[in-house]
Amino acid sequence: MLYNLIALSKEFKDGRKSVDVEITGSLLIIKLDNREVKWAIDSLEIERGGAGDALIYIKSSINPEIVLYTREKKFLKDENLSQNESLNKSSKQLKQQFLNQKIIYTFVIIIILTIPIYFFAFRSNIVHIIAEEVPVKWEIEAGDKLFETLKKQYDVVEDSVISSKLDSIFSPLISSVNTPEIDYKFYLCSDPSLNAFALPGGHIVINYGTIMKVERIEELYGVIGHELGHVSQRHHIRGLIGNLGTFLIFQGFLGDEAGLIGAIGESAGKLSSLFYSRAFERESDEVGFTYLTTAGIDPKGMVEFFQRIERESEISLEEEEEEEEEEEENSETIDALKNFVSTHPGINERIDYLNNRIINESINIPEKDFDLGKFQKFIQLKLN
Ligand SMILES: [Zn+2]
Repeated sequence: MLYNLIALSKEFKDGRKSVDVEITGSLLIIKLDNREVKWAIDSLEIERGGAGDALIYIKSSINPEIVLYTREKKFLKDENLSQNESLNKSSKQLKQQFLNQKIIYTFVIIIILTIPIYFFAFRSNIVHIIAEEVPVKWEIEAGDKLFETLKKQYDVVEDSVISSKLDSIFSPLISSVNTPEIDYKFYLCSDPSLNAFALPGGHIVINYGTIMKVERIEELYGVIGHELGHVSQRHHIRGLIGNLGTFLIFQGFLGDEAGLIGAIGESAGKLSSLFYSRAFERESDEVGFTYLTTAGIDPKGMVEFFQRIERESEISLEEEEEEEEEEEENSETIDALKNFVSTHPGINERIDYLNNRIINESINIPEKDFDLGKFQKFIQLKLN
């Protein structure tokens, strides 16, 4: 067989030359311009070398001043070379080396290709990990600023008597939330609709309508348990990080947390976006349920509150169909806060989940001794 190889030698101009090499029964013949160099195949040494060990070097003890090399692995497969026992052994080793290298390359490529898949599969875990890096102190400050803005838009009643009343009612529930760094504060807002919402860092606002429409205190505990879940699980910050875009999250994942936290700071205003994902709603229900049972409060109140929301939203949908949309809301935030259902999706599924848990965990907690009528009257008098 005839091959084209590169020959290295001081005798060539530039020290190298492309040469034809013929392999016959027992000889390797290098065809130079003026002569042929004949190497006995028995005298050959074959090694790998060059960048990434991609080259095959062929030397002979007969003329050590000439070295041949090639990239062509088919050279090793030459019949005459492979019949030679000692060479066959070394060429097998070479092939094995090539194979090993191929396996390593393939492995590296697979890893590189699968990183994005892992990344997307574990995106929410990664968001969680990054959120851990955001100091709670920062979240509390952002929540305070946001509250200052919202309380003007949203008729929050600032009354220390009301706040301390709400604090004392909900304090048993707070004791079962394990976030000592957060100081939960409760506010009343004069909105007549069925709603409550939480801001990062622990401001929890309850609508007047919510207090007046519930039929037992467990319903209020249920909605507050759920809202506490949004705060303790840091849904605002996780939602914000989740919305930042994959690139930034990937950067945070790779350790550039400073850049990520900077970006979070820039979009702090977006924390007011209270549209939570279904996953967050479920998580809030889950932890809220546990807060309730830990505090010895019947979690059926949570179910009753969700059912109440569902009934209410059916009524308000019918009303909306009748009357044309008269008023344009002056702010998106108010719009978002207005309807608990639009901010808290998938309510039927969630009711099912809660009911299943009540059955599976055989929950049977007696009703609290609480004079709801008296409390409602107190709130009513305060607002009028
Ligand atoms: Zn929610």
